[in-house]
Amino acid sequence: MATDRLRTLLSCMLLTSSPDRASAAKTSTQYDCDVAIAGGGIVGVTLARALQASGLRVGIVEAQVPDAAIARDRSYAVSVLSSRILDGLGVWKTVFPRVGAFSRIHLSDADAPGAVEFELRDLGTDYLGFAGPHGALLSALQAAVADADSITWFCPATVADAAIDAQGATLTLNAPDENNRREVRARLLVAADGARSRVRASAGVRTRGWKYGQSCITTTFAHAAPANDTAFERFWPTGPMGVLPLPGNRCQVVWTNPHARAQELQATDANTFTTALERYTGGLLGRIELLSDRLVFPVQLLQSDRYVQPRLALVGDAAHCCHPVGGQGLNLGIRDAVAIAEVLTAAHHRGEDIGSLRVLQRYDRWRRWENVAILGLTDMLNRTFSNEWLPAVAVRRSGLWAMRRVPPVRRFSLSLMTGLLGRQPEVAHVTARA
Ligand SMILES: Cc1cc2nc3c(=O)[nH]c(=O)nc-3n(C[C@H](O)[C@H](O)[C@H](O)COP(=O)(O)OP(=O)(O)OC[C@H]3O[C@@H](n4cnc5c(N)ncnc54)[C@H](O)[C@@H]3O)c2cc1C
Repeated sequence: MATDRLRTLLSCMLLTSSPDRASAAKTSTQYDCDVAIAGGGIVGVTLARALQASGLRVGIVEAQVPDAAIARDRSYAVSVLSSRILDGLGVWKTVFPRVGAFSRIHLSDADAPGAVEFELRDLGTDYLGFAGPHGALLSALQAAVADADSITWFCPATVADAAIDAQGATLTLNAPDENNRREVRARLLVAADGARSRVRASAGVRTRGWKYGQSCITTTFAHAAPANDTAFERFWPTGPMGVLPLPGNRCQVVWTNPHARAQELQATDANTFTTALERYTGGLLGRIELLSDRLVFPVQLLQSDRYVQPRLALVGDAAHCCHPVGGQGLNLGIRDAVAIAEVLTAAHHRGEDIGSLRVLQRYDRWRRWENVAILGLTDMLNRTFSNEWLPAVAVRRSGLWAMRRVPPVRRFSLSLMTGLLGRQPEVAHVTARA
């Protein structure tokens, strides 16, 4: 129902079918708001939702129509902290019936003995994590903001240009319909437009990082072994393989390989692929049957030189990207979104200028080092495990031994992976919002 309302709202934003709206657009081509968000992916809409009760007016610009945006065929490992944040934002109750919840995490060095098994008692939570389909997460967020008077959508529209001055930012929108090409003026611009952020580029923010020479192949499959509540991370010398349990005896695999091998695995026939998958999952899931296309994504590490400057902030993949091992990228983005929302809301209530560097630096200080730590951890995991050099083998086997046998190491690793180690946003501690 709520998604239908959102679709109606978005189609209204096209302005083409309504003469009144079209003439309004001709006379007033500039829309003024407090915060303009470029990019209505999961991170951008999480930010809009987190600002909904702040008293700030929000404009959100998204290139894809809602149906196309939610159709992305991917599931993410959603951390315990992200689930609490989404609960505080009032969307987890809609998402939860569609996720796979796991209460065990199994880490192993390929097929070598000595796998680490994390269990619920290690963390004292109801679950250790979740596997959430992109469509379930994004549609629940879209529906949650659909009726918000304080949020205006521009969709489908792309940010063609972002000009930043001392008082604010002006976005020039490009849209399929000429009547919908307008300017959005905001006191603060937040780039949530993904890894190839146009806003970041037009603001001249440089990035550092590297490509891994690896690609991830992702697909969903059914398995013969009984429904499991275990997430696997199996580290092969060719690259890590993450397997996330979905409802109904299904799993999603995120399998890292050198580029050429990933392309081969994508192109090979389904039988050869499932045989390889059965072997690399160690037979733990029994016979496997493919349920979706195999998609391939090159992987990279990227860190923006700065997350903030006067009138501009970067969140999610626009600010940083990490290797998919451990399923951290989106979880970091969700934390960025609620962190900046908390900073902006507090500043607004104190009467501060939300676009000032002084205010934005609070977000930078909160998020930068935690993101750097996770980028470093995922890079280190990928390098030490995608490797047959003996010292690297010794280091990783000792690491796994410590996670198995040394309780503080075990708790530390699990808390880090589930997001519970860093500073927690207030929204993660509130009772679910309506
Ligand atoms: C193979 C793989 C597996 C992964 N698995 C996990 C996992 O298990 N767990 C996890 O936490 N993370 C995972 N990640 C990382 C995760 O996919 C990203 O971190 C996350 O999708 C980033 O979200 P975002 O909203 O910042 O960016 P995006 O999802 O890229 O969204 C950006 C949005 O901005 C819009 N946009 C772009 N340019 C413009 C423009 N100029 N104007 C208007 N709109 C624009 C786009 O249409 C899009 O909707 C994985 C990544 C890969 C590659």
